[in-house]
Order: sequence, then structure tokens, then C-alpha cells
Amino acid sequence: SQAKVIEKGEKVDTTFKDVAGLSEAKQEIEEIVDFLKMPEKYTKLGGKIPRGALLVGPPGTGKTLLAKAVAGEAGVPFFSMSGSDFVEMFVGVGASRVRDLFKQAKEKSPCIIFIDEIDAIGRARGKNGGFSSNDERENTLNQLLTEMDGFGTNSGVIILAATNRADILDRALMRAGRFDRQIHVDLPDLNDRKAIFKVHLRPLKISEDFDSDFLAKQTPGFSGADIANVCNEAALYAARKKKDFIEKQDFLDAVDRIVGGLEKKNKILT
Ligand code: ATP
Repeated sequence: SQAKVIEKGEKVDTTFKDVAGLSEAKQEIEEIVDFLKMPEKYTKLGGKIPRGALLVGPPGTGKTLLAKAVAGEAGVPFFSMSGSDFVEMFVGVGASRVRDLFKQAKEKSPCIIFIDEIDAIGRARGKNGGFSSNDERENTLNQLLTEMDGFGTNSGVIILAATNRADILDRALMRAGRFDRQIHVDLPDLNDRKAIFKVHLRPLKISEDFDSDFLAKQTPGFSGADIANVCNEAALYAARKKKDFIEKQDFLDAVDRIVGGLEKKNKILT
């Protein structure tokens, strides 16, 4: 969600090791790494490599992280944009940004294009009725569809898009040859939370009065992003108290703070 408007073909060092849990999603997406690394293996019998896949799941569950890890594992550049950045744009700007992005990506193929919050531009067309329909959003979406169709088959560019609302997306996006695969990225269960804590505790100086198992039990309903947040807050609490190590109580305080934040968010939503 914090993706810059456009990240220009950066080399990434994120790998599957950085993505804890999500074993099913990782297994499914591994195929895409393979397509990027060894396209001939698949195309020699005349098959076409898929152009895109949709990562579907709640906020903060690691969709961006997973997309980056695909690029990292395959050793290819990572281009990204966020759908929400295109909504309030002047006429023509969104579409021309999409065109530029695809042009650059084609030049650096094989590569990944990641589109975060695709629902912001990819909502079903013509359903918001009357004068509120957002023409520029539609232009941007149409440009995206045109670009996806315009790729020669096996161009080496694979487009991953993320959303937490697959149900509201324009059917045209899901047509064969576009985002015809969906990969589910769900909230972590107890075991996965434990694994995510392990990743985020690794760089921290912690005392030995607790472990990732204990923390996972304290955090039902937390996303990976919430867990990363807890670890960081705990480190800041402990530092403020001039401790040499982060203690259990610092984590519990951080958990309380995040729970407070989540409750507030839910109240605003309901
Ligand atoms: P959004 O839908 O809000 O864009 P997202 O699903 O793309 O969220 P990320 O941006 O990938 O989520 O996750 C935010 C941060 O949370 C990551 O950079 C990482 O630090 C942490 N995180 C989330 N999921 C995991 C995970 N499975 N393993 C390790 N860290 C995770």
C-alpha cells in the first residue's frame, strides 16, 4: 500500500525467505518464478505463458511482499504502481502513465509489473451511475486492458495485481489472457503468526523472557503488517526506557497499542 506512484524497474533483494507463512500462495506463485526464469521450458510445445495473476486478500497480509519476492527469486526488475494514485488525475494523465510504465517494462523484460489496489481503477465500469462516473479512471482501466492485450504472447512481462475486493472488479480484467489466475493471501493463523514474528524479531535485540510462540498467541486477527508494526513499536518503547534489550512487557504494550488502533479503525468503518 505504500508503493510509490511508479517504481521504475528496481532490482529487488526480497526473496521467499522474507515471506513467512503463506505456504499455499508461495507454492502457487512459484510457477510464475519458473515462467520468468525458464520460459522456453514452457513455450517449446506451443504453450502461452500467462500474462497476469491477481493476489487477493485483506490489507497487510503480504501481497506486495510476495510480488517483490517473485521478482527477487527470478532475478528480474520490479515495476510497480498503485491504483489509488490514478483516481484523481487530470484527463489523459492516468492512461499515459500506464502506457509509459508498460513501455519501460517491455524494454527491461523479463520483469514484473505490480499493480497495488487495482480495484481503485479496476472497479466494474458504468455502475456508479449518473454524473459521478469517473472518466479518467475508465480511461486508465481501458489503457491497462489495451496494454495487456497488446503484449505479444511470451513477452516476458508478467503483471501481478493486488486487491482486497476481487468481487467488485470489472469482469474484463479476469478474462482469459489477462488476470486469469487468482492467488489467495489470507490473514495468518497461529503458526504463520509465529513464523512472521520470527522474521521480524531477527534483527532486534530481545531479552529471553518470551518467544515468538508467546507473541503469536497474543495476536489473533493480526496481519503480517500489524506484526511488523508490533515489533517496531516494542523496540521504540524499550529504547525510550533506555533498556539494552526489548522485554516481554514492551511487546505487550505494543500489542495493546495496535489493538487500540484496530478497534478505532473498525469503529470508523461500522
Ligand atoms: P496492502 O493490501 O495494505 O497493500 P499488502 O498485503 O500488500 O498490504 P505488504 O505491504 O506486503 O501487505 O505488507 C506490509 C509489511 O508487513 C511487509 O513489508 C512486511 O514487513 C510485513 N508482512 C506482511 N506479511 C508478511 C509475511 N507473510 N511475512 C513477513 N512479513 C510480512
